[in-house]
Amino acid sequence: IASDRLAVNERWAQMLGRRRAELEPITGKTWQALCHPDDIAPAQDALQRHLSGELERFTAEFRLRHADGHWVWVQSAGCVFGRDAQGRPLRVAGTHMDISARKADEQRLHDDARALAAANRQLRDLAILDALTGSFNRRHFNDVGLAALEGAQRGEAVALCMLDIDHFKAYNDHYGHQAGDTVLQAVARTLKGSLKRSTDALFRLGGEEFGVIFSAESAEAARQFASQLRAALHALELPHARSPVGWVTASFGLAWWEAPTTGLTPEAMYAAADAALYEAKRGGRDRVVAHCFLAGEGEQAQPACAF
Ligand code: GH3
Ligand code: MG
Ligand code: MG
Repeated sequence: IASDRLAVNERWAQMLGRRRAELEPITGKTWQALCHPDDIAPAQDALQRHLSGELERFTAEFRLRHADGHWVWVQSAGCVFGRDAQGRPLRVAGTHMDISARKADEQRLHDDARALAAANRQLRDLAILDALTGSFNRRHFNDVGLAALEGAQRGEAVALCMLDIDHFKAYNDHYGHQAGDTVLQAVARTLKGSLKRSTDALFRLGGEEFGVIFSAESAEAARQFASQLRAALHALELPHARSPVGWVTASFGLAWWEAPTTGLTPEAMYAAADAALYEAKRGGRDRVVAHCFLAGEGEQAQPACAF
């Protein structure tokens, strides 16, 4: 320790693609010069903790530079052999083992795990996202609906706004299916951009039908939000020659529950908003029809109020 001298065998030098003679005299400095800069301090720290008696044995893993230029992963293990009268360490003896193959395996495993996680994320996205618009799909509606209703069990209000593009068959007939797809994408983008909270979620529920599950403290706030969605669609001013309005519009059916009980299901939410949407279509399209279900009224099929 005091002389900082490292006595190694020929095999040690071979591990680094060298001859012992060309490296001698081998000291702690030689090791430092060969070691990867990131690995020097942790290894020195581990050695110090052993020399001070804190650790019973010394172990470290570090990279040493091979003569060819690549790094060789080395596992070092050793312990103090002999101390002076004051208990200071005189010599440390141990082994250096080439663990490059194991490290490569570990790296491959790590890479595989990352690739697998990415593939799983992609699979999950495929399962819950609509390919055309990137919004959640109908299948995912039930899960998010259930989650929203769980929040509602803690006394929060919950709302579902459904909308269906007006005269969309005529749009396709006039402009072509491709142009129709572009409209669906633009509508989805606009709706998504109008969401307010991280828990608000947009779904493509059918061909040209969307739904937004959102939270709103009051029926009036919910209605305002639906009106904002309608206004945002208007603001797009997508020309629609076969619509009486002249541009793309949608009809909105809103259902808002002040304090849903456990009896309310995503399917029942869907049915309630769909009924309001049907009224909006019958009433002349391009409008919001809202139904509210008040606390204490139970889960009756009939809304407590339309507003
Ligand atoms: P309304 O105002 O009553 O909603 O009339 P509408 O024409 O929108 O309703 P209808 O249900 O008669 O037609 C819906 C149209 O939506 C028919 C279908 O071609 C179109 N559609 C459904 N899915 C897609 C899609 O993925 N892409 C395109 N371009 N069109 C679609
Ligand atoms: Mg429709
Ligand atoms: Mg339609």
